[in-house]
Amino acid sequence: MDPAERTYIMVKPDGVQRGLVGEVIKRFEQKGYKLVAMKLAMPGEEMLKQHYADLSERSFFPGLITYMNSGPVCCMVWEGRNVVLEGRKMLGATKPADSAMGTIRGDFCVDVGRNVCHGSDSVDSANHEIGLWFPEGIISWDKADASWVLE
Ligand code: UDP
Ligand code: MG
Repeated sequence: MDPAERTYIMVKPDGVQRGLVGEVIKRFEQKGYKLVAMKLAMPGEEMLKQHYADLSERSFFPGLITYMNSGPVCCMVWEGRNVVLEGRKMLGATKPADSAMGTIRGDFCVDVGRNVCHGSDSVDSANHEIGLWFPEGIISWDKADASWVLE
């Protein structure tokens, strides 16, 4: 069996408001990944600043925090082979104009400042973000279709 790789996926406030939570879940489920944690949250400014700490010097940072703090977000952890990289492919490029059709951002977004979803960009940042958003831990469980997804 593969060592478990996990990624932190978050539907941003615009995605929640636009009713796209199910669409994001559907795509990760259909791909064959396993949901191991999920919750709706109003994390507040401090948590969001921590999550985006790497970007704190960027000019768009204040607007990003206001946007992210404007409503509930849906936080998830997905597990599976290469899920960090594959998850980023499923989200699409940061700027929706550069996102391929068929990706979440390519299909549902127009503006980089309203790009519906977040996904960890490396295994290290995934582990960091999972610890930050799910200090209570994740759920380990055996998914019944595992041998139908992986040879
Ligand atoms: N962002 C923005 N303007 C930019 C670049 C990024 O508003 O010019 C926002 C956008 O919502 C993006 C988030 O900041 O998703 C985090 O930026 P990052 O470069 O980490 O992109 P991501 O990892 O989300 O693709
Ligand atoms: Mg990023």
